Amino acid sequence: MERSQPIWIKDPLAILAEGAERGVVVQDGGIVELVPSGGKPAADAGVYEAAAHVILPGLINTHHHFYQTLTRALPAAMDRELFPWLQALYPVWARLTPETLDLGVSVAMSELLLSGCTTTTDHHYVFPGGLEDAVDIEVDAARRLGLRVLLTRGSMNLSQKDGGLPPDSVVQDEDTILADCERVVAKHHQRGADAMVQIALAPCSPFSVTTSLMSATAALADKLDVRLHTHLAETEDENKFCEQMYGCRPLDYLEQCGWLNARTWLAHGIHFRPDEMKRLGKAGTTISHCACSNQILASGCCPVCDMEEAGVAIGLGVDGSASNDESNLMQEVRAAFLLQRARYGVGRVSHKDALRWATKGSAACVGRPELGEIAVGKAADLALFKLDELRFSGHGDPLAALVLCGAHRADRVMVGGKWVVTDGAIPGLDISALIRRHSAAARKMQAG
Ligand SMILES: [Zn+2]
Repeated sequence: MERSQPIWIKDPLAILAEGAERGVVVQDGGIVELVPSGGKPAADAGVYEAAAHVILPGLINTHHHFYQTLTRALPAAMDRELFPWLQALYPVWARLTPETLDLGVSVAMSELLLSGCTTTTDHHYVFPGGLEDAVDIEVDAARRLGLRVLLTRGSMNLSQKDGGLPPDSVVQDEDTILADCERVVAKHHQRGADAMVQIALAPCSPFSVTTSLMSATAALADKLDVRLHTHLAETEDENKFCEQMYGCRPLDYLEQCGWLNARTWLAHGIHFRPDEMKRLGKAGTTISHCACSNQILASGCCPVCDMEEAGVAIGLGVDGSASNDESNLMQEVRAAFLLQRARYGVGRVSHKDALRWATKGSAACVGRPELGEIAVGKAADLALFKLDELRFSGHGDPLAALVLCGAHRADRVMVGGKWVVTDGAIPGLDISALIRRHSAAARKMQAG
């Protein structure tokens, strides 16, 4: 196969990489060379002048529910903790249609891209009648926008009549769920370092899924060799639910269901005890820290430093836009930095830690070691920020300024060597029209 022309992204203002002071050379979707101070690329390359840009590895979002952009700041759900918040929202989410989901997904993905995100997961677990193709709709949107994705086939099958939290209208039966898991993996899951679309399996939570489905999903993930995801240790309510329903704590339950292994990444991980963190570390299970969502729902604070000391890799997630209520991953970096700095102090948490969680740490969560780092052999997934806004005026360290001054919008984003954001916009996307259609769909869904 003929190789594409190499491009030298030249002389950045700053870059989050060692030995790349004069930038990086990208070719065929990958990073082929770092150009050190005083150096030049080894071979002829086209040039992109990056003198006004701070370059980060593309940010990776490890937990989200795209459809929730349709229910942001909903008065009926505001000022509630997780369980009553969910109970207020389930009936609204039951009205999702293929058209509204497509709009919700397009908005979430656009927000993510414009914030410097190059890879995202999504946890879609609401399948009312008529929405059987939810994952397929998400795949189409990702391809349209050029975002790298690890979409999960979520599920709920434990409804109120069986002691669970969700109403009957949003759950499916186990056979239907498992058959569709196999279908979407066979249809969409790509393997290899340049994969743009991958699928994982993701029962929603211990309080919305049966033990049988949890165990069967783990076995299926093993058979299909795909990753596993769920919410765990998010609230004290969940601890109580597990103790009453299963007679054990959430992590014990997870282990009994065959989930405590390196295939699994968990959203939240707030309420683990020190011995449980060690078990997670030993198993290679990773955690998606969702700082904004945890603060808005007052769920608690993930003990990120203790977790890392126990050997658990930490990534960041914006979580659903009904509990954040945005999908801006760069702002999530700042939120995680602030929350963890407040918890652990200046000696243990710096802006660099927060950037590491959103890149290398998140890459571990999604099982993609070729992402999340600017180094030779890694994917050419990059986020370029300018520091020409009012909020940055007077800054010293450009990399620190991104986090401390509150960067929220990338100027350019590259995924697999292709520019998918240029001049702070997504080429070909009419944002005003998208907002108009999405807002109208959200109003209709909320009104019932
Ligand atoms: Zn979530």
